[in-house]
Amino acid sequence: MKDIEAARQRMIDRQIIARGIRDNRVLEAIREVPRHLFVDESLLDEAYDDNPLPIGEGQTISQPYMAALMTHLLELGEDQQVLEIGTGSGYQAAILARLCRWVYTIERIKVLSEKAHDLLERIGYANVTFIVGDGSAGWPSHAPYDGIIVTAGAPKVPEILVDQLRMGGRLVIPVGDRFSQTLKRVIRTRTGIKLENYTGCRFVDLIGKHGWTAL
Ligand code: SAH
Repeated sequence: MKDIEAARQRMIDRQIIARGIRDNRVLEAIREVPRHLFVDESLLDEAYDDNPLPIGEGQTISQPYMAALMTHLLELGEDQQVLEIGTGSGYQAAILARLCRWVYTIERIKVLSEKAHDLLERIGYANVTFIVGDGSAGWPSHAPYDGIIVTAGAPKVPEILVDQLRMGGRLVIPVGDRFSQTLKRVIRTRTGIKLENYTGCRFVDLIGKHGWTAL
């Protein structure tokens, strides 16, 4: 257990702080989430490596730095609610759950959603609602959100997601082709939107009505 905690601290120091993320709330949340429980036991030795890892069904858990950067860009306050599109392993949802009041997370692959739900319940996260379905259209019934995070690559920014942000709300989303994307942040303002570009990245496809068609 000591080794695992040391590996997690090394990950934070060398992969996240070293790349410029100094947001203490985010760093603290990442320190508290046991990333190794979100990957298969056979990948235990790689759980804190500087890359994404397979989680089954052709999907991946994001690289730790990418999860940290996206979380930082959401700027979540403790009274706020966030929508995550792409539950995957549930790792990102667990980080978000430590930072805000409520997390709604949507996954299109039922077995992944169920596995993530079981794990988060087992390790004591009670402020997360799991939904199975196409999240590319968001989840209007709980809108408006203070933040929306899309953890799969989209061909464009779905306007329908921007509409579900409250004024001042942040949407963090990788946009590009199926091989490489740019991480973008869209902030909803009174006069329209503010669009910012961050790093290049590579995510699995966002598949659905406002994403790609399944291959
Ligand atoms: N946030 C995850 C990483 C998930 S990988 C983690 O921390 O582990 C991206 C996930 O998005 C995959 O599980 C994929 O099935 C899911 N996905 C793709 N398109 C989707 C859609 N339209 N709605 C919901 N989930 C989607």
